[in-house]
Amino acid sequence: MQNLLVMKFGGTSMGTPESIRSVAAICKEQSARRPTVAVVSAMSKVTDLMLETMFHAERGDEASFSENLRRLRRRHEETCSALIPEEFQPEIRDRLEALLARFDRIVRGMAMLRERPPRALDEAVSLGEALSATLLAGYLESTGQTAAVVLGSEVIITDPIHGNATPRMELTAFRAKEGILPLLTGKIFPVVTGFCGATEDGHITTLGRGGSDFTATILAAGLDASEVWIWTDVDGIMSADPRVVPDAIVLPEITYSEAAELAYNGAKILHPRTLLPIAERSIPLWSKNTFNPSFPGTRIVNHTQNGDGARAVTSSKNVVLISVDPASASVNPNAVMARCLDAVARVNAEVLAFSSSSYRQSFCLLVRRDELADATRSIETALSLELNHGYIRPLDINDDVGLLAIVGEGMKGTPGLAGRIFTAISREQVNIIAISQGASELTIAIIVRRDGVEKAAKAVHAECGLGAAGLSPL
Ligand code: ADP
Ligand code: ASP
Ligand code: MG
Repeated sequence: MQNLLVMKFGGTSMGTPESIRSVAAICKEQSARRPTVAVVSAMSKVTDLMLETMFHAERGDEASFSENLRRLRRRHEETCSALIPEEFQPEIRDRLEALLARFDRIVRGMAMLRERPPRALDEAVSLGEALSATLLAGYLESTGQTAAVVLGSEVIITDPIHGNATPRMELTAFRAKEGILPLLTGKIFPVVTGFCGATEDGHITTLGRGGSDFTATILAAGLDASEVWIWTDVDGIMSADPRVVPDAIVLPEITYSEAAELAYNGAKILHPRTLLPIAERSIPLWSKNTFNPSFPGTRIVNHTQNGDGARAVTSSKNVVLISVDPASASVNPNAVMARCLDAVARVNAEVLAFSSSSYRQSFCLLVRRDELADATRSIETALSLELNHGYIRPLDINDDVGLLAIVGEGMKGTPGLAGRIFTAISREQVNIIAISQGASELTIAIIVRRDGVEKAAKAVHAECGLGAAGLSPL
């Protein structure tokens, strides 16, 4: 299908009756022009609430999980009342109620078993998106636009890694075309639930937190879309997180590689794997603001007229540093490194930065906080012999760290760049714990003490002339 557009709306865009009205207006405007598919996130904070509810259930804390179930119901019922005209409400309420009742049942099952099995957890948490999609599709219908909810689990086929699944693209392309194109031909507007997929045998999986961005690009690739628009609560991809660096500016254009590095290094604006399905197909992505829709936003493409130096800075506190320190010279350090990285890969955790010292043969790796437990367990199993016999010291886990990443295609070969960045950080009295730079010179990753991350991000942003004031660019 020609000129197809996939648009994704995040949690804040789906967060209130007013914002859902704005989303619907954008959907109607675009679908009048070209075949358009919407992907939606759960209403803001709903996924957190659902995960917390299941945590209470596992502990058998009935008072807390019951209170959360009430809050979840109230939020969606109140939104339904304020959003949907009265004559359409009974039908939408019934649909919401069926989804809420399903969540209720799974939570009570978890409470009974005192367990949160990953499969049940994914099935339950995916209902957040089904609830928000029901509200948007219901509202569209009430305005005369025929619409249908399409479950991500019907059109995205993944491996069975619950909580962090990976799509199987060929199967997904087939299912997506089969499930969505007939709707478009029939002028029915598809509202796809983000964040979730299913294994080939039908078990629901999720794509990792913030995964609805990934849903949009998976579908764009599967449907041969010509563009993806990701709608959020800021004007586009900025030179830094505006919550951390207030004078950050919107970048009109960046490359897939730059955006992927930013996302990978913790810029919340995009899920880390968002660019993978579309970069190789050169499908352009726009990042836009639901609350300022006339602003063009940021365009992500193959090549830009990039200037010299850095393009953006990102910071993350959601990381932990694992250090491995051989205690004996009889240990082959390269083999230990290889086994360690293999152990981390086996549990699907990602190494965000890696640094080694040649003299002591010690090395450290940075992982995401929510992947720490699996990564450590796996490393300890892989190195159990050396650890038990004291050839390697017990793993050192430092969670008092943060990650700063400076990204830009124009940094390649720019002399003096690293020096200026390190000087700017040290002027703020922030101690650098480790540094890592890939051979592509696209990103410099710097690990600092947790309480220094924001100060360091502001200092580097200013030093690189990235803000509104635009000092001398590096
Ligand atoms: P959504 O719910 O729409 O998916 P997110 O909260 O996941 O939105 O992502 C949007 C947020 O990402 C922004 O509000 C902003 O605080 C944060 N952010 C982090 N880094 C950047 C950046 N470089 N540019 C823009 N926003 C950023
Ligand atoms: N609702 C999911 C989350 O909060 C997915 C998303 O918002 O993209 O992680
Ligand atoms: Mg997001």
